[in-house]
Amino acid sequence: MELSDLLNRVPASATIEMAQKARDLKAQGKDVISLTLGEPDFDTPDHIKEAAIRAIQAGDTKYTPVPGTLALRKAICDKFKRDNDLDYTPDQIVVSCGAKQTIANIALSVLNKGDEVLLPAPYWVSYAGIADMCNATRVEIKTNIAHDFKVTPEELDAAITDKTRLLIFSSPCNPTGSRYSKAELEAIAKVVEKYPRCIVISDEIYEYISFSEEKHFSLAQIPALKNQVVTVNGMSKGFAMTGWRIGYMGAPLWIAKACAKLQGQFTSGACSIAQAASAHALNAPLDATMVMRDEFLKRRDMMLELLGEIDGLKLNVPEGAFYIFPDVSAYFGKSFGDYHIQKPTDLVMYLLGEAYVATVGGESFGDDNCLRISYAASEESLREAVKRIKQALSKLT
Ligand code: PMP
Ligand code: GLU
Repeated sequence: MELSDLLNRVPASATIEMAQKARDLKAQGKDVISLTLGEPDFDTPDHIKEAAIRAIQAGDTKYTPVPGTLALRKAICDKFKRDNDLDYTPDQIVVSCGAKQTIANIALSVLNKGDEVLLPAPYWVSYAGIADMCNATRVEIKTNIAHDFKVTPEELDAAITDKTRLLIFSSPCNPTGSRYSKAELEAIAKVVEKYPRCIVISDEIYEYISFSEEKHFSLAQIPALKNQVVTVNGMSKGFAMTGWRIGYMGAPLWIAKACAKLQGQFTSGACSIAQAASAHALNAPLDATMVMRDEFLKRRDMMLELLGEIDGLKLNVPEGAFYIFPDVSAYFGKSFGDYHIQKPTDLVMYLLGEAYVATVGGESFGDDNCLRISYAASEESLREAVKRIKQALSKLT
């Protein structure tokens, strides 16, 4: 079967593949606990669902403008002002079918073959896949657990060049849960501003799932970077709206226009009903979001305590998102039966086969020592999962 060069370049999404493997095993009757997908296990809050129902009844069922309804783009501008002290106008906002499309839109709009995309690693899987789709050259900056998986200004300075067209990172971070402080972002900005051709995608989709005392800080709040930063956010995580598929950007006008042009030939405007519900959600109080955040914090602490009891795991303390990213390299070189553990994915397959717990190997996040555990699951299943992991790991010799 002959496929396009583009498709041949793009790896399948590891998060989605592992989630499917877990579903397949479940369908065969296996008692699998899937800690694969970064998806809140909570239902979308009722008041948001009701807004969607009202939108359907009001006949909000037609094509919308490609970059999104004016009502939603205004709600996004108000959100940016209220939460982030950012002044975007509605023509700087583009709404897409999820933040994944938002990021792809930006990359496809600015990257040419061979342009360098800087990825502090570990990074979210799709940054790499999207860079590959664009035929860009990925430049990974390896960070490690000792520095809480955060890139330092010195490391960034050593990797950034005039060929760097895009820098992509998330804070709070998928997969590490690390969060950059205002001071750290200011130090990074000092490096980036020396390279005006470099556009930064600041992926803030986990903004509301933060456990830090410090208020969320957006890179675009730094005046010197105003024309270089695109702020990406979305409804999936903070509002438990993964299936509604709404993501958005606040961008310099030329980037917003480029992305709207591209989207106009691709998916057009996002779902009208989901847009109406999102506008309502962004304008409403964040009570339900904060309840979910508090629950994630409880689970994080529980996971750190339970996983902390397993000798071979090294853990950082995630300040946001809903992932634990333990360093499992102490198990490399160990075996059980036909399983020989040399890399994170070997351990992932072992845990799936022996303990029926599904996780995702660090390799697809640009890390060779860790695996990702999503704790967006019930306390009961998390406790059971860690019990099984502990038992399986103890069998490795
Ligand atoms: N950015 C990050 C860091 C993510 O983890 C995800 C999804 N897990 C997305 C973007 C995309 O989210 P969505 O397409 O559902 O808006
Ligand atoms: N982004 C989420 C994750 O990291 C959902 C799956 C995906 O879109 O890749 O698991």
